[in-house]
Amino acid sequence: MSPKASIITRFAPSPTGHLHLGHAYSAWFAWHEAQTGSGRFLLRVEDIDRGRCRPDFEKAIHEDLAWLGLTWETPVRRQSDHMTDYSRALVSLTLKQLVYPCFCTRKDIAREIEAAAGAPHALPDGPDGPVYPGICRGLGFDEVENRKAAGEAFCLRLRMDTAISLAGPLDWTDLDRGRQRALPEIFGDVVIARKDTPTSYHLAVTVDDALQGVTRVTRGDDLFEASHVHRLLQALLGLPAPEYRHHGLLTGADGKRFAKRDKAQTIRSLRETGKTPAEVWDLAGVARDQRP
Ligand code: GLU
Repeated sequence: MSPKASIITRFAPSPTGHLHLGHAYSAWFAWHEAQTGSGRFLLRVEDIDRGRCRPDFEKAIHEDLAWLGLTWETPVRRQSDHMTDYSRALVSLTLKQLVYPCFCTRKDIAREIEAAAGAPHALPDGPDGPVYPGICRGLGFDEVENRKAAGEAFCLRLRMDTAISLAGPLDWTDLDRGRQRALPEIFGDVVIARKDTPTSYHLAVTVDDALQGVTRVTRGDDLFEASHVHRLLQALLGLPAPEYRHHGLLTGADGKRFAKRDKAQTIRSLRETGKTPAEVWDLAGVARDQRP
């Protein structure tokens, strides 16, 4: 590592499908940010969703990125190998009484929201969909223990208002959009540990970025709002706040952003139809003199 190195970026795909052109651009974006700052580029495999992640997709991530000419530092951090890091963070939030168990199904939530629709206290949608209407917020100790003992599945949610009061006003920096006041309240009582796995995207990403020493988080504009929650979690967990840069999302000929289900635009399929890495970078709109 050069003594000047200060910028540490990462690309953090989930192995739930093959990488597509949008991922190639996002990976390049993080790699390029690191290059311009004589920094370090890291890779992280976000595989907490055990039901959807597959080892062959993980292998393909490495192969496709290497085929494109990108290089990253090793070791690669695989989230499923670090569940104890997330449990430690959860314990810390629990000890601060910021977390509560929620037994609701999607149906329970939808029913409650529908019943409240039109009422003066109806909740607006948050960036991830409807804001949780607080059904399990006030469950008593005995009820929680009985339902757990009966084997009812539960997730853990953050008590957003208490968390915000504890952390106080926060801001964060997006290098393109400037200083942002943190507005995690738009998410409501966000899920911090899922029913199927004892962490969540927000918790794992925040902990990992800190443990990997990431100083500049780059990712698509679709995750801009998520940074509000991450800033709050950093404050609650005593973690450093990186700077952020959110890039625009690539779209296909139909104007829609690429998705893993669009098989034709995966790096793998482009490769199989005989495209070269240079042609793929052309398709991703990366200038010739800025490629790996
Ligand atoms: N794993 C996330 C995704 O594939 C990216 C998370 C991030 O960059 O913060 O969309």
